[in-house]
Formats: sequence, structure tokens, C-alpha cells
Amino acid sequence: MIAADLHTHTIASGHGSAATVGQMARVASMRGLRLLGISDHGPATPGAALPSYFYNLALAPRDRFGIRLLYGVEANILDGGSLDLDHSILARLDYVIASMHCPPRSVIYHGNDEIEAYRERNTRDYIRAMSNPLVRIIGHPDNSQFPYCVHRLTDAAAESGVILEINEASLGLNGFHRVEGIDTEKNYRILIRLCKKKGIPLLVSSDSHGPDQIGQTGRALALLHEQDFPRELLVNEHFELLHLPERLLHSCRPAPSAPDTDALPPA
Ligand SMILES: [Zn+2]
Ligand SMILES: [Zn+2]
Repeated sequence: MIAADLHTHTIASGHGSAATVGQMARVASMRGLRLLGISDHGPATPGAALPSYFYNLALAPRDRFGIRLLYGVEANILDGGSLDLDHSILARLDYVIASMHCPPRSVIYHGNDEIEAYRERNTRDYIRAMSNPLVRIIGHPDNSQFPYCVHRLTDAAAESGVILEINEASLGLNGFHRVEGIDTEKNYRILIRLCKKKGIPLLVSSDSHGPDQIGQTGRALALLHEQDFPRELLVNEHFELLHLPERLLHSCRPAPSAPDTDALPPA
């Protein structure tokens, strides 16, 4: 089991779960996680919470059922690369994941069209989102509906310090983000190889909607194992790679004693 799962959704995301933060925290604690991040969908997702929900998360309890909680958002990267919450609200959150979804993005690639124009548009928007200093993580950059240039994205990540995510839900048998003929695993293999070469940290996440999949990232970790990705660049074990203020992590459960090996945790 990973030590931290930073991409999870509650009832406030408007789909996929009726779970509260408390229910999520209880399961994460029982499973032995040290850190749980709540990252509900931004307000441009149909049915998601209003900006006032995110504004008030700064007042929510951070220690529940013996586990440390972080409160973030999975903001939407809109057409043009801006996000769906104002800077003043994003700045109150512990971290920001930025992801592409449709809706609200207006154009998706279906695999039967000339890909290059889509790739250019999405790459530009990813890079603009990453230039926002409040963006810490790019969520599921595997989505074949939003093709992009992996070389330019990883260059931008190396330059900006933005973390890239390997998303377990995308790798499931019914992965959210597959396009006929384009292989999510293949996209991730190329991304992982480039991150390894350029020294870019990676985060594995469950993207659990509700408590059931919290902490479950076996397919994502298996891909990292396969590519011999260095453990010291795995954000789930090296929280310092998140560059969060110390006060947010000070009451985390202690890490288990140091492993005898540099190998990644078991998938
Ligand atoms: Zn998402
Ligand atoms: Zn998500």
C-alpha cells in the first residue's frame, strides 16, 4: 500500500460517490495510509461543488481517524489553459491538481481525425496551466482523448517543478480515458521513461471516487517497476517533493522503518 493518496473524490464532486470526507478518512486510516488528499472536481464539472465549498476547506479539520488530511482540488484545464477556480480560492487550498476533462473542454479526439492539431492545442494548454505557480500536479496525462506532445510536457515539468501523475483509474479495465486504438499503458511507458531520464518526480494516485479504491495503485506501481523508475522520485514516499509548507505535514503518521532496498514498494 502506498503511503499517500492525493487524488480522491467525495460526494462534492457530483458523481461517482456519496461519500463524505469523514468516510474517506476512516477507510484511508484503516488501510494504513499516512496522508490522504481530497481533490474534488472543480466547479466546471457538471454537478460539482461551488467555489464556496473550496473557499471554506481552509477551515476543515486536518486530522481525522488518526490520519493527516490535505484539501485540494482537481481543477479543470479550460479551453485556452486557464483553470476553473479563481487564483484567490486556489491559493487557500493545500495543493492543486490540474486535469483535462470533457466537459468542460470543448474538443476531444476520437481517433478518426488528424491528430496534430489536437496535440498542439492540448500541449499549449497544459503548459499554460503549468505556468500557474499554484498548480502542483498534472492529473492523468494519459488521456487519449487529449493527445499532447510528451517531450514538451516533460520539459515544462522539469522547468516548473510540476509533478506528473500515473493514474490507477485510467489503467483499469474500464479506464476512464481510453480511445479505441490508443493504449493507455503505452502512453504511460513513454512518459515514465522520459521522467526517469529527466529526473521528474511522479505521483501514483487511485483517483478513487468514494472510499473503495483509496490507496489502490497496483497497476500504476507495476508500470513503474517495469520501467525501473527510481524510488527517490516517487512522491508518494518522498513528501518533500510536494514542496508543501511544513505545517501541513507535521502530524503525519511516522514512516515505517527504512526499507532494506531501494526498490519501489510492491505493486
Ligand atoms: Zn480527472
Ligand atoms: Zn479525479
